[in-house]
Amino acid sequence: WMGSVLDITEEKRAREQARQQEERLQQSSRLITMGEMASTLAHELNQPLAAIASYNSGCINRLHDAQPIDRRELLDIHERIARQAQRAGEIIRRVHDFVRRSEPKREPLDLNAVIRDAIGLIEADARKRGMRIRSELADDLPQVPADAVMIEQIVVNLVRNAMDAMRDEAPAARIIEVRSAHEGRFATVSVADRGAGIPDEIAARLFEPFFTTKSEGMGMGLNICRSIAELHHGRLGFEVRAGGGTIFTLSLPLDSPA
Ligand code: ADP
Repeated sequence: WMGSVLDITEEKRAREQARQQEERLQQSSRLITMGEMASTLAHELNQPLAAIASYNSGCINRLHDAQPIDRRELLDIHERIARQAQRAGEIIRRVHDFVRRSEPKREPLDLNAVIRDAIGLIEADARKRGMRIRSELADDLPQVPADAVMIEQIVVNLVRNAMDAMRDEAPAARIIEVRSAHEGRFATVSVADRGAGIPDEIAARLFEPFFTTKSEGMGMGLNICRSIAELHHGRLGFEVRAGGGTIFTLSLPLDSPA
């Protein structure tokens, strides 16, 4: 029977290898979608570049003209060119930041502090939109090895989505609840809203890149958030909230993966 035991072990190992390969593949396809994000930003570069080219040909035409040159007009055009060049530079910087940030810097993190910072960032916006943010933070939360900037980005995104989901709700209902908790080997952050919820046909596509139901949406938020969760070997999911609305939950493992 020794032979058959070896066979089973071999089979198990092969299966495990296939599973790991599948996991790696899925992960890299998500990373490619982060690359897609960079490429859309690069696409945006076309706008300022086209503007610069057209201002520039305007200048050349004026210089070719036999009529005397209005210096003020020329100065104005050059200032516009400078502004567009600056805008192009900002877009490039955003792409750089994005790419650089895709490797998480894992440091022991006080998740509650990150949540407080994230809320601090959007509080003013929330107030303007008639939304209240309530937080209930666990006081027994161990530190999590994670990238503070990335996790903050997730919380901000989830709260933003929650606000968007409650746009049409009565002012009294516009409360977003942010909770942290310690669940076994995970620390979790959940963001709950009282919005209209997520219909099944939308739920299936929620995390796809560029999927959005908003006229001004880009549809990259949840896709990037899930990629970040997976880079940390964590998970990002959502559930229907009892009494109406949705709860998004980010779970991060407490111990660093080997
Ligand atoms: P965007 O916010 O640009 O649309 P996201 O990837 O963040 O991109 O979200 C994708 C879509 O998921 C949204 O357009 C919306 O339809 C849906 N969604 C996200 N969060 C919620 C929520 N809390 N309640 C209802 N729908 C949501």
